[in-house]
Amino acid sequence: MEANIQDDISSNIQIIQQRIAKTCERSNRNLNSVKLLLATKTVPADRIKLALQSGGHLIAENKVQELQQKYIDLQSIAHTNHFIGHLQRNKIKELLKYDVSCIQSIDQFDLAEKLNQRLALTQKQMDILIQVNTSNEDSKFGVQPEAAEMLIRKISKLEHLHIKGLMTIGLFSSSEEKVRACFRLLANLSTHIGAMEIPNVQMKELSMGMSGDLEIAIEEGATIVRVGTAVFGKRSTSDQYYWPEP
Ligand SMILES: *Cc1c(COP(=O)(O)O)cnc(C)c1O
Repeated sequence: MEANIQDDISSNIQIIQQRIAKTCERSNRNLNSVKLLLATKTVPADRIKLALQSGGHLIAENKVQELQQKYIDLQSIAHTNHFIGHLQRNKIKELLKYDVSCIQSIDQFDLAEKLNQRLALTQKQMDILIQVNTSNEDSKFGVQPEAAEMLIRKISKLEHLHIKGLMTIGLFSSSEEKVRACFRLLANLSTHIGAMEIPNVQMKELSMGMSGDLEIAIEEGATIVRVGTAVFGKRSTSDQYYWPEP
């Protein structure tokens, strides 16, 4: 049984890596310019371990509680942790106990300010991405595109935080053009903000694209694609639990 699961996960990762490679080739992008992030919500630590042994390196949780549960089991294997979920103020202190190198889901100034204060207490630094709502749906988190520049300017003054780019969850739609429009909006916003050369702000990461739409995201400039289902299989918990109504 164990061997089969390993085979599944490692062949799934291979398939994803091939999808990434093909798209890079087709769109004249360097393969090294796109990182694969494994979205591990609901996935038990033993399966995440198999993924890390099969070529995965960058993983991310949506809930602090799941980080907490899996942390010890994953300690023995080298990996990098990001955080991609909606972060509650009262979970910041707990989150900082784990070795998270980037929080991709910052979309409010007061959340950033609280995080900065916590980091200051221990003289730590944190990379962040600004989550943008590119699909114009009320149900998604993220700052509105029009408000992103102002938010970034304010957060850039917080000394323990370092903005490294933007993140979005695109529209879930069968219309490729509508999905592409979300990713293009994020890429254009990144170019626009990058040109302003705001101190303490780098626009080097564009985190966009998931199992179903990573090709479109890469064509539009993604540097991080976040993949869950296509590696680990379908989740039994509804995503509504992870993306509640804001
Ligand atoms: C779950 C999740 C993903 C991965 O989604 P899949 O469709 O399973 O690949 C990507 N980004 C975020 C923020 C997620 O919560």
